[in-house]
Amino acid sequence: MAEQLIISVSGMRGIIGENLTASIAVEYGSAFGTFLKEKPDGKKERLSVCIGRDSRPSGEMLQSAVIEGLCATGIDVVDLGIVTTPCVGVMLRELACAGGVIITASHNPIAYNGIKLLLENGVAPPAPEAEKIKRCFLEKNLALADSSHCGRVTCSDQTDATHIDKVLAIVDKEAIAAKGFKVVLDSVNGAGGRVTKKLLAELGCEVTAINDEPTGLFAHGPEPTAANLTGLCDAVKAEEADIGFAQDPDADRLAIVDEHGTYIGEEYTLALAAKYIFSKRTGIAATNLSTSRMIDDLAEKAGGQVIRTAVGEANVAATMFEHDCIIGGEGNGGVIDLRVGPVRDSLVGIALVLQLMAETGKTISRLADEIGGYYMSKDKFPARQDQAKQILESAKEAFAEAKLETTDGCRFDFDDGWLHLRASNTEPVMRIIVEAKDRPTAQKYIDQVTAIRTKTLAH
Ligand code: MG
Repeated sequence: MAEQLIISVSGMRGIIGENLTASIAVEYGSAFGTFLKEKPDGKKERLSVCIGRDSRPSGEMLQSAVIEGLCATGIDVVDLGIVTTPCVGVMLRELACAGGVIITASHNPIAYNGIKLLLENGVAPPAPEAEKIKRCFLEKNLALADSSHCGRVTCSDQTDATHIDKVLAIVDKEAIAAKGFKVVLDSVNGAGGRVTKKLLAELGCEVTAINDEPTGLFAHGPEPTAANLTGLCDAVKAEEADIGFAQDPDADRLAIVDEHGTYIGEEYTLALAAKYIFSKRTGIAATNLSTSRMIDDLAEKAGGQVIRTAVGEANVAATMFEHDCIIGGEGNGGVIDLRVGPVRDSLVGIALVLQLMAETGKTISRLADEIGGYYMSKDKFPARQDQAKQILESAKEAFAEAKLETTDGCRFDFDDGWLHLRASNTEPVMRIIVEAKDRPTAQKYIDQVTAIRTKTLAH
């Protein structure tokens, strides 16, 4: 069976030339334009939307089509060209746009591309708003403009400079530059290379950049996981660098390699950034239910607090706005600092981690050791919606002693660890994330879930 086009809260994702075509993108652009014009606060005479794309070869086609669709509804468009996802979040607020669009399929393979939507606050539409856009698209309920009211297209080349200024404002540039860090950067030939090299130059780093051409021809698997980053690990060792940074194609996620050339895991990115923030300020952090306890330990030590949200950047960002959080993000290497923008941002992660190294004078491996000490396992298994529901019910009975949180699937907190079980929104699978004080303890919980699965699926 051919794969379905996915339309979710974060936009549309599909396979180019199969289910995601130019004509679909035009109509989706017009659906977004119609939604913006019909919003209660969308009655201004002219509305604008800024649009950027990652480096995939299909990006130009898809971006042109979305621009066409927006202009057809009378929306003006600011074309940012090849930029990172967080850059669009920064620019739409800077230019006071009514919305933003990013053409990216994030860490998915090259066959995919996607259209990600942001509202004027820089956050993806909440579920009811996303549903309205989807309905406009599916029912072809498009408010097309007449010939004198079509949108116009302009370009901006201020994106990198604007974004870098905002990131530099949250750290002590001179203190970092004084250290002259040696850094290896792997941008997987995505959108991150150009702007990140400029940021690192501003921070006085000696940079070796690999896979930094925005060709969209990914030099390795595009997700910044250990298996995909052996080249970066080798380069850090060969260059005797202080640290290695890896971005995904749209540069919202960041993974770190220590000075020994060892991948330390994406969970550490947010934890290290939070370690710096909590060393300076006391306040509230926000992260999703699947993210490591390291951030709770750091918050507790600093007299702060962590609010847990459902999985998804928009949920974290909305909570951060609501509670005026000083740091937030997700355990997949996504760090959010509202002073820069409400989007996961690898440049923010890089700047905060370098600041932490500069201030403490400690190596990145030592800093990671100081906050670690947990064992974490992330896995998924096939389960239809009805099976997932049964598995959750059985798990509630089996783990009746644990503290239960049901915002997004079930999260069980035990004295010696936690377990998060949730059904995927986009595929017929369940995700299981376990973190415990050691591997055997984590395995104990995984084995219990396996027993529940076997029993459920046997019926
Ligand atoms: Mg991404």
